[in-house]
Amino acid sequence: MAKKTIRDVDVAGRRVLVRVDFNVPLTDEGEVADDTRIRGALPTIEYLREQGARLILTSHLGRPKGEPKEELRLNSVAARLSQLIDAPVRKVDRLTGPEVTEAADSLQAGEVLLLENSRFDPRETKNDPELAQELCRLADLYVNDAFGAAHRAHATTAGVAACLPAVSGFLMQAELDALQGLVDSPKHPFVAVLGGAKVTDKIGVIERFLDLADQILIGGAMCFTFFKAQGLDVGASRVEDEAGIETARRALEKAGKSDCELVLPRDLVVADRFAEDAEAKVVAVGDIPPGWMGLDIGPETADEYERRILDAAQVFWNGPMGVFEMDRFAEGTRGIARAMAESPAFTVVGGGDSVAAVQQLGLAERMGHVSTGGGASLELIEGAELPGVAALEDR
Ligand code: ADP
Ligand code: MG
Repeated sequence: MAKKTIRDVDVAGRRVLVRVDFNVPLTDEGEVADDTRIRGALPTIEYLREQGARLILTSHLGRPKGEPKEELRLNSVAARLSQLIDAPVRKVDRLTGPEVTEAADSLQAGEVLLLENSRFDPRETKNDPELAQELCRLADLYVNDAFGAAHRAHATTAGVAACLPAVSGFLMQAELDALQGLVDSPKHPFVAVLGGAKVTDKIGVIERFLDLADQILIGGAMCFTFFKAQGLDVGASRVEDEAGIETARRALEKAGKSDCELVLPRDLVVADRFAEDAEAKVVAVGDIPPGWMGLDIGPETADEYERRILDAAQVFWNGPMGVFEMDRFAEGTRGIARAMAESPAFTVVGGGDSVAAVQQLGLAERMGHVSTGGGASLELIEGAELPGVAALEDR
């Protein structure tokens, strides 16, 4: 069901509590290393300022585990946001309390206040109703623009919606439109490309794609758990435990009965060590020398996957095809990213590492949609109800 957005409500002069996802990487000096997530919230922030709303922003950063951590304060985030909107951003050192109430009440139309890291308060991740009440008293309206945190039922992502009118921001809306469209009205051929580390993390998505997609192309470390399930020798490649192998076995069995093709690599780049300067070569699947490990899909596999992506009408990609952090094992991942950029299909990339790979290659602009939420995008595709979305008012 479509959710109300900030366009559907009156915001002028109102105090608006906006949950944003400012969970950005920081440098060792505590500066913002990558401001993609801050920029993602700008359309919502700029719109609310133009409309004369009084903005109270809240976000988490990292995992402070319920207590203040100096290195995880949002001060450098406030500074970066201030540069981006070319206006002052007042930052308070707490999430709630008298100082925060005073700051929120003194906001003028168009002004911006940023609250301290929400996870400094142990009540945040417990979705404590008392914390939600304290936050609700600061504002007249709640806007959730933090898609990346929407799969969590926390006080700032879901709890506050119990005591304030709750609508979505533009980023949240764009994410829901793109991802929901992918699963609700898929265009065929629908190709899903899945890589990365663990099958168990992604089994829900694999099973959903077996129902929805026409082809699932598997790469990354994940493929070795599948090979092991097929009884193939994988050398020293990264595989999961017996439970993971059993999961892969079930997926293969389900694929055998489904109309969806589950495609595994035919060749691999293998290395004698997990290192950039290891000895490396291309081998057929099944020919991994003892003690060697697969670190990327091979060139034949990459060609085949690229062809399938170019012929698709819709592509979803999550998880790199190899250890792309090492340049020598990044070719498979680069090939997927380039084919996605060139394909006439509607292309969606989700997942922290796959999105990072696309950005490193400068190809983000050429994707149909780049999701800011790794875990949230996978849960949405699996068909789970995201607490942060469910809490918003229906249109
Ligand atoms: P995403 O963040 O896009 O969801 P994941 O976190 O699931 O992706 O997986 C990314 C990680 O998987 C990367 O750190 C990458 O190095 C690792 N990886 C991919 N292929 C292999 C492989 N063959 N062997 C070991 N690690 C791999
Ligand atoms: Mg990751």
